[in-house]
Amino acid sequence: MNAWQRWLDKMRSRTPRDYSGVCPRCFLKIGSCLCCELPRIDSNIEVVIVRHIKEDWLTSNTGRLAALILTKARIVRYGGEEPFDDSLLCGDGTWLLYPGPHQTPQQSLPRRFVVLDGTFRQARRMYKKISALRSLPELSLSAPSQQPPRLRNPPRVDGLSTIEAIAAVLGRFESPTIAEQLLAAHAEFVRRADATRGRQRPHLKASVAFLAHH
Ligand SMILES: [Zn+2]
Repeated sequence: MNAWQRWLDKMRSRTPRDYSGVCPRCFLKIGSCLCCELPRIDSNIEVVIVRHIKEDWLTSNTGRLAALILTKARIVRYGGEEPFDDSLLCGDGTWLLYPGPHQTPQQSLPRRFVVLDGTFRQARRMYKKISALRSLPELSLSAPSQQPPRLRNPPRVDGLSTIEAIAAVLGRFESPTIAEQLLAAHAEFVRRADATRGRQRPHLKASVAFLAHH
């Protein structure tokens, strides 16, 4: 990839701040907006997505998509001028999903997951700065055997994007169907974003699983 293509890709990956021609919810181009077709899933387990401020305008941020689908997911911003309210991270049954070699053994089921949304470096920084995170039981995921199409390569050490990580925990502790729906919506999101960028991937012609849920 030459410098011009890298610059072009970078510009395309950011949503304009006036949302010109872009859906302000899903960040896809207006003609490709996915919002009306997304499932709304009322999971039992809550998800708190602590998103680094630098992810705010990135089209490729997948925590945004997860929060559009899951009624019990919320995004909490970290960084910038605003103080961070860590009371949102407390409560019985709250676990932290954090890439690492150790896994905390659990006796009971989780009621809420905290997911750090950002590059691995940003996630490590959030973990270091937000003391409430370090008192939570931690769960780490293993790298997936297959790499699904993504708008960018995940920087996490477990090789998962945020929505994939959320799908993995909800699939494991609540319902495999929820995981399938999240992953199918993500595949369709990538397909539409690719289409608006004129990019075609032969293995991603249509998201059958996504269409099957409608
Ligand atoms: Zn939309």
